[in-house]
Amino acid sequence: MGQTFAEATTPYGCRWPEIPRNLQGMSLSALSQEFDIPQERRVVTAIPGPKSDALMQRRADAVARGVGTTLPVFIERAAGGILVDVDGNHLIDLGSGIAVTSVGNSNPEVVSRVQDQVALFTHTCFMVTPYEGYVEVCEALNRLTPGDHAKRSALFNSGAEAVENAVKIARAYTKRQAVVVVEHAYHGRTNLTMAMTAKDMPYKHGFGPFASDIYRVPTSYPFRDGLDGAQAAVVAITKIEKEVGSDQVAALVIEPIQGEGGFVVPAPGFLKALSDFCTDNGIVFIADEIQTGFARTGAWFACDYEGVIPDVITTAKGIAGGLPLAAVTGRAEIMDAAHVGGLGGTYGGNPVACAAAIGSIAAMEAHDLPSRAQAIEALMKARLVTMQGKVPAIAEVRGRGAMIAVELVIPGTDQPNDALAGAVAKACHAQGVVVLTAGTYGNVLRFLPPLVISEELLNEALDIIEEAFIALR
Ligand SMILES: *Cc1c(COP(=O)(O)O)cnc(C)c1O
Repeated sequence: MGQTFAEATTPYGCRWPEIPRNLQGMSLSALSQEFDIPQERRVVTAIPGPKSDALMQRRADAVARGVGTTLPVFIERAAGGILVDVDGNHLIDLGSGIAVTSVGNSNPEVVSRVQDQVALFTHTCFMVTPYEGYVEVCEALNRLTPGDHAKRSALFNSGAEAVENAVKIARAYTKRQAVVVVEHAYHGRTNLTMAMTAKDMPYKHGFGPFASDIYRVPTSYPFRDGLDGAQAAVVAITKIEKEVGSDQVAALVIEPIQGEGGFVVPAPGFLKALSDFCTDNGIVFIADEIQTGFARTGAWFACDYEGVIPDVITTAKGIAGGLPLAAVTGRAEIMDAAHVGGLGGTYGGNPVACAAAIGSIAAMEAHDLPSRAQAIEALMKARLVTMQGKVPAIAEVRGRGAMIAVELVIPGTDQPNDALAGAVAKACHAQGVVVLTAGTYGNVLRFLPPLVISEELLNEALDIIEEAFIALR
């Protein structure tokens, strides 16, 4: 019951910013031939198999238990949309390592640049003696992110570190301290970003005290609040005005589509109303596009859909094809408010990670991966809506591009059905399909395929998801 990308269309008309000239003209052949592992599912043992079981035992004896595991399967190789485990099973990857390997695992454009760079030099510390790759990545960010104003960027190692630095910069610029975040938000696991993250278990539980001056307001969650964008914005803005004080707020930080929170797409107009409120009140509007950025949602950035130009944008995950890299990009006058030496870190913008980012961005441009993400959306939504007709627990199919989720309820109610989400995920894992769960209530199944996935592989994964739903509904 497959569908083809060709049949699939989406209603969005998006702006594709130009790729920097020096990233153009990369020759890439047909996608599926670029990956050196056949792009097909193979289940040759129970999942997990015996070698993974043995490694899980070693892991338990050596690794702190606080570091969780979604699938107790150890990976030996990966390419494109396939993960190969130590027992020889080929798994279809609908997680991309949490929206990271958007250009496919070990994309040749990433691998070749990383290999070249690692042989040239591995590290100098950009703050000690700089190198061109860092500047090139900042130039690409400044051109690709929304808005034509003068921009500056700074590079870091992780998403949480980028969010921390965006807040530092906004406080330096505004000389204010309060930071506003929203319900169901996820911004990371460091002390400041734990405070900004909404969910207690597992992210915050027992790890306080948390950073102060963080204020949480309601967001727009159409399935659960029933409000349109303007109404939801009034609720949030009133709370900021009455409980925080608009002139006390340095920054409002928001994910344009929530990631860990369950792929919650706000009602149209909500983000624009908040960003206008920020502009009117001297508040820095920070879009956390760490999960949504870099072609994931079918646009280069999710804000492109909303007509919103953030003052500052944080990126990470999909930026560098799997190497650790993160960035803060924003209006030049805001970014330059931090004094010389106030930003940085030993490894931030490591040259190997920068080479990977340049390769990843080149691959996104060469294959027009934003369009590809739109085709993935159309294919996935068509099939998931058909499933919804057969499975009453599927209350909503939502998301954009290759960031698609289903929210599950106890049929006939709006009660979250986290048990079904967990059971379906487990059944998919046993069949060699990597899917993830999400949501404050744990009742969302989320899909983040690499943007280079073939339609055959995607349809096969959806067949297995459908079988699991039918068996467990
Ligand atoms: C993953 C994520 C982060 C944290 O990134 P890390 O690299 O894990 O620190 C922050 N914000 C959003 C929206 C994310 O999805």
